[in-house]
Amino acid sequence: MSDLDNQVREVKSSFDRAAGSTTTTDGLQELKVRYLGKKGALTVLLKSLKDLSPEERPLAGEVLNTLRDELERKIENKKQALTRAEDAAAEAMEKIDVTLPPRGRPAGAFHPVAQTMHEIVSIMQGLGYSVALGPEIEEDHYNFECLNMPSWHPARDMQDTFYLSNPEDAGSGSLLLRTHTSPVQIRSMLRYGAPLRIVCPGKVYRRDNDPTHSPMFNQLEGLLIEENVSFSILKGSLVELMNGFFGRELKNRFRASYFPFTEPSMELDIECVDCGGKNPGCRVCKGTGWLEVCGLGMVHPFVVRSGGIDPEKYNGFAFGMGLDRMAMLKYGINDLRYLFNGNVSYFLSGRNVS
Ligand SMILES: [Zn+2]
Repeated sequence: MSDLDNQVREVKSSFDRAAGSTTTTDGLQELKVRYLGKKGALTVLLKSLKDLSPEERPLAGEVLNTLRDELERKIENKKQALTRAEDAAAEAMEKIDVTLPPRGRPAGAFHPVAQTMHEIVSIMQGLGYSVALGPEIEEDHYNFECLNMPSWHPARDMQDTFYLSNPEDAGSGSLLLRTHTSPVQIRSMLRYGAPLRIVCPGKVYRRDNDPTHSPMFNQLEGLLIEENVSFSILKGSLVELMNGFFGRELKNRFRASYFPFTEPSMELDIECVDCGGKNPGCRVCKGTGWLEVCGLGMVHPFVVRSGGIDPEKYNGFAFGMGLDRMAMLKYGINDLRYLFNGNVSYFLSGRNVS
């Protein structure tokens, strides 16, 4: 018996030591297995009962059962204490500090081209223009013929596009992706008549694809039709637009040019917004000091008539620019493709991706 008493005392004290240093419910589970599991210390003792004589067995059995009850009770108590502590710790980790300032979400932003469009439209609205929109799938009639570009006209070569029906079959009614927003001018003249002041922003399409040309790009055109419109009004409006858009007074020059739908036709250059004409190695202006930004001219009487307006009574001017190019110039974007390839990180990283 004294042998058994010793063993019981030993199991008890080693259990208490182990339990004292157990700090997690997982550790406690291991402890339980170590003493009460199939090969546990107490289980081994219980199994040894069969080696005792029938006289000794009942008392020894009682002692061991008492020990088992005690160990189980201690494990259960300890388990409750540890679970409470672990729950409290987990709760403390998850605690929400309602006094912290909100972190919020990063605000979204307009695409640079959309932003450019809004800025230009806003300046033109200040000059009394309204916004007019039209279909991107357009008829040959509105895209070319009304704009003084009949099927044989060589200027059509510069605006080769994507046809949705065979031009030879459908003639002037054949469908194509518009090559400029000018058909919106025709549609607006036919719908609203004169006087008229509109800007037409939108996507246009041409069969071009290289680092500086995309088969889809964004254009904004303006049209003013009134009585006795002079070239000086056109000039003043565009100078106002460019200075307003770039936020300072820029040198400008108007050069003679050619478009089938205006007569006379001009192009507007502004001083290089990057170097101001002071850097012969400038990449933006290629050292010329000037940037081509806008085509313009007095609307050809043929086009005024196509719009259902009497060119003897009304005249006007039109201009057009690439919104993508304007965005690139204003925001220092050095490759057209960044505007369309969806690489948001380019715009978040200071636009230094080469
Ligand atoms: Zn320059």
